[in-house]
Amino acid sequence: MDTSKHEGEEKAMPEQKTLVIIKPDGLVKSLTGGILTKLSETKLKIIAAKVVRVSRELAVEHYYHLKDQPFFGELIKYIMGEHHTNRVLAMVYYGEDAIQKVRAIAGSTNPEEAESISIRGMFGRITTKGVFENVIHASSDPKEAEREIKLWFMPDEIVTDIYPTTEKEVARKMRVWA
Ligand code: UDP
Ligand code: MG
Repeated sequence: MDTSKHEGEEKAMPEQKTLVIIKPDGLVKSLTGGILTKLSETKLKIIAAKVVRVSRELAVEHYYHLKDQPFFGELIKYIMGEHHTNRVLAMVYYGEDAIQKVRAIAGSTNPEEAESISIRGMFGRITTKGVFENVIHASSDPKEAEREIKLWFMPDEIVTDIYPTTEKEVARKMRVWA
């Protein structure tokens, strides 16, 4: 039996999830609204969002694959907001071909090379120390997206069940309202 697609028929794209972070420079320059408007062009769904104070531990874990790069130290300072504000906005976007759609609107890593109407092209800059302050992070592939989403979010902070979960008794001290 011929199961091949008919000519011209669109291949269905997979539903994907991707981690998007508006970095400290994006928040301190009040670019959040503009960035969210650009991202809404993707027609993807936001299924989680929170403002996070980035610890060194989280920053290093998030960018562990770049730990041997000469700019790693500055990159960690950047995502922790040492030169800006100690906050980022972390979100999960969900939908068809989400990873590529967000990467396309984000633009190239180097803001000087990014398309001028992309988020990084419009709002990014290179610091005198050579760090690409490109205002937004976006996961690069499904495996990285899963690793990053699980690093930044707990299952109950995401409104859709996107990965398998389990119930576990956890005994730990928690900060509560006084
Ligand atoms: N970065 C940099 N200089 C470089 C490469 C990367 O400052 O030569 C920074 C930049 O902020 C980038 C982040 O490190 O967004 C993570 O790098 P990656 O290669 O993962 O690029 P991305 O996936 O963010 O486009
Ligand atoms: Mg990356």
